Order: sequence, then C-alpha cells, then structure tokens
Amino acid sequence: MSVRVAVVGAGAAGLCAARHLLSKPGTFCTPVVFESGTSVGGTWVYEELDEPIREKGVEPEGPERPEGHSRYRSHSSMYQNLRTNLPKEVMAFPDFPFELHLNSFLPHHEVLRYLQKYCDHFDVGPHVRFNTAVERVRPVVMETTDGKQRTEWEVTSSERSGSERTERFDAVFVCSGHYSVPHVPEIPGLQHFRGSVLHSHSYRRPEPFSGQTVLVLGARNSGIDICMELSTVAEQVFLSHRTPRLSFPLPPNVSQTESIDRILEDGTVALQDGRVLKADSLLLCTGYIFTFPFLHESDLGIDMQRDFVGPLYRHIMSPGFPSLFFIGLCQQICPFPHFHCQVQFCVAVLEGAVSLPSAPVMQQECRAWLEKRLSRGVQQRHLLRMEHEQWEYCASLSAEAGFKPLTPAIRSLFEEVWRRRREHPLQYRESNYRLTEEHWERAPSAGQRE
Ligand code: FAD
Repeated sequence: MSVRVAVVGAGAAGLCAARHLLSKPGTFCTPVVFESGTSVGGTWVYEELDEPIREKGVEPEGPERPEGHSRYRSHSSMYQNLRTNLPKEVMAFPDFPFELHLNSFLPHHEVLRYLQKYCDHFDVGPHVRFNTAVERVRPVVMETTDGKQRTEWEVTSSERSGSERTERFDAVFVCSGHYSVPHVPEIPGLQHFRGSVLHSHSYRRPEPFSGQTVLVLGARNSGIDICMELSTVAEQVFLSHRTPRLSFPLPPNVSQTESIDRILEDGTVALQDGRVLKADSLLLCTGYIFTFPFLHESDLGIDMQRDFVGPLYRHIMSPGFPSLFFIGLCQQICPFPHFHCQVQFCVAVLEGAVSLPSAPVMQQECRAWLEKRLSRGVQQRHLLRMEHEQWEYCASLSAEAGFKPLTPAIRSLFEEVWRRRREHPLQYRESNYRLTEEHWERAPSAGQRE
C-alpha cells in the first residue's frame, strides 16, 4: 500500500520533501503540502509592511499566544535590501543549480524565483494546498493484526474561509520554518523607552530611520547587515552586543557597545558597563524562537522549547514516533543541502531502506549526544548549532540511507565563505564563485547548464 504523507509548509524544506516523495510514485501517494500562505517560498516571500515602525513595545509572539490564535503566519522576516549570506553555488539544492548568469550572492527575489522554478521543475505545485493552515497533528496509535503497534497521523487543517478538515496520513514532514516568531529578550524597563521598538522580523528598509540615533541589539548576521545599511541614513548607530568585539573597521557613525542592562525611567538606555545612551529607535536583532502550535509535546514524548526540541533521533524524529519528521531544526548550517539530506534520509526510513534502532536505543543515542554537548559547556540555546559538524552529519545520513553524499566542494566553498565573512563581513559578498558541473548531482536541464 502506498504511504500517505502530509507536509506542513511550502518553504524550501517543504518543497524539498515533496520533490523527493514525488520521485517515488510506487512507494508514496502524492503528498499533500499544506501552506498557510498564498505562495511557495516561505522566508523568501518578501512582504511590504504598511507601518514598518511600531510605536513602542514589541508584542511578544510565541507559544504564549492565546488559544485559538490563527496559525496563519504574520509576515516573512525578509527585508528589502537583503542579499544572501551564502553564494548560490553552495546555497542551491545539490540537484538543482541556480542559473549560471546570476552573481554568487543574490537578492531575495532571486532566491524566491529559484524556489518557484524548483517547485515547477519537480511539479510540486499541484500538490500544495494554499491558504490552508495545519491546526493540529495528532498521533493515533493502533494495534495491527500481528500484535504490533502502528501510528497514523490525524492532521486537522483549516482554510481561510474557515472550513476545517481532518485527514489521516502515515507520515508527516514538519517543514513550518523557524524564522517568523521573534525572540524578544527580557529588557527591564522596556516600557519606558520613548522611541520606537522594532524586531528585525518587521524591519524592511533603512529610510524611516533617517537622521536618527538607532540602537541595534544583536550582532549576528541580521544585526550586522542591518546596522550597516542603517549607517547610510542614520545620524548614529550603536551596535550593542555580547559577542566578542568585532575586529573589522565599522563606518564612522557606528559604535560598538556593551549589551543593554535596562531602560531607565527617563527613557535612556543603561548599558552593562554603566554607560547611558539616548536613542530614537531600538532595533532588536535578537533572533527567532521555535514554535509548533499544531503539535503537543505530551502526544509526542518530546520537549519543545523556544530554543531546543528533543530528544530527536538524528535531530529529526522522536524515538517513539519515527514517522513524524522535523526538517531543518539545526542552526548554522548550509540550509538547502541540509534539507536535501534530511529529507532523503526520512524517505529512506519510510521506504524501509534504513533500519532504525529500537526506541530505547534511539533515546540512548539522543541522551549521549546531549550529555556530550552539555559537558562541553554548550548553552541550551546553542545546542542545535552545527557549524562544522554539519558535514559529518550529512555524510552519515547519506551513508545510512544510500543516497549520494554532498560533494566536498560544497564544504570547502562554504568554509571559505564563512571564513571570509568573519574576516571581512562588509566585503565578502563582492567575490563570485564557481562550481563545475561535475559537482552537481544530476545534469541540470538545458537552460541551467554551465
Ligand atoms: P520557511 O521558509 O519559513 O517556510 C515555512 C513555510 O511553512 C512557510 O511558507 C509558512 O507559511 C508555512 N507554515 C508554517 N506554519 C504552517 C502551518 N501551521 N500550516 C501550513 N503552513 C505553515 N538561508 C540561506 O541558505 N541563505 C541565506 O542567505 C539566508 N538568509 C536568510 C535571511 C533571513 C532574514 C532569514 C530569516 C533567513 C535566512 N536564511 C538563509 C535561512 C532560511 O530561512 C532558510 O534558508 C530556508 O528558507 C528555511 O526554509 P523552511 O522551509 O525551513 O522555512
């Protein structure tokens, strides 16, 4: 009997899941891809905001949202001038290169166009149910005639019109993304801040900050990029962070400061080194949190926190339910190639081509991994950061599941760019890179050939 699969989300991960499921029509029924938005592409769908700056206060969004809150995503976190932080040669799915004529570092609309082409090329579109949000995914455990246990998944979805539907599937790919619910740090006295407070999730362009003094909190990818573009219009930008002091030259109107301690009653900002600053706007580039409002921890035997989900065997599946797959939870990875490997591993699990250890053995492996990370002093919020471990991880998935491993060229190019970004974060996008055709998994179609 063909396996019935639901995919939650039609961003890069969901499209990748559907593409690989569709490649095995003998094994899988055509998947149902649920997408709460109106188009494919997820993060890469740029949305204008009418009022980009909210007056004061950032409403915390997240699991504490009131019951019954719509599962429809508010807006994507893409800003107008974003260029990719990975070159297209590394960023692409290994079986579908970007067009050759494009530069290595791309504006967001080119990535969206690429994902739309991927969707068309693999004929995923007809299987996406747009404007349809998954409200609940629930395991139904049944006993088979030979006394074994078998899990089916009850997926309840709602259309924008309000109509609700519950269907049964044999497996679910959770590809709902994790860059749309802002992490808003506790800042004592935030209510006293007199200017506007905004999370990078709602930042679109620098112009509204012209002539202002802006305090940017957080100096990871978005923090640095946004700080640089603000410096072209703002009077002064303070880049406040707790990471080691950035050693590259910053524009003259950008100063690095300690992290924020609190907001004082007069609306000024007290820093952790005792300095006090006055700013017109506070821009929180403080990252995002995990939320899976359609899943219940108690159903699945896993802990779903804002910054960690586990135990998950291979960072993908609950040992008790190896037919519910989380794609793309890991951080500091090369996302599309990583999804490509995780998805193929899951497909092989469903086909029976990977024989999983027993649930207790999977639990034990997860525990050992966690203990090792914690004993190395890794903080909880960094547990899922992979960095250089991602390559061995992807290689082990491909070895076990028998699909083609990522070419070593992807790793070496990724690491070169990573290094250049650390050393020259303002210039690293100026170079173009090249991978030869032999590095692609299969010959691309005529229009995309080198
Ligand atoms: P998403 O793109 O978030 O897609 C999830 C989809 O699921 C969405 O369409 C959403 O509407 C849908 N969905 C969610 N919940 C439900 C539900 N309950 N029911 C139905 N549908 C649902 N990566 C790179 O490789 N290179 C870069 O340069 C890069 N830059 C980035 C810059 C920014 C500002 C951000 C935020 C991320 C960036 N990333 C980059 C990471 C990027 O998010 C990933 O590459 C990738 O696009 C994530 O895909 P996804 O499918 O996991 O999630």
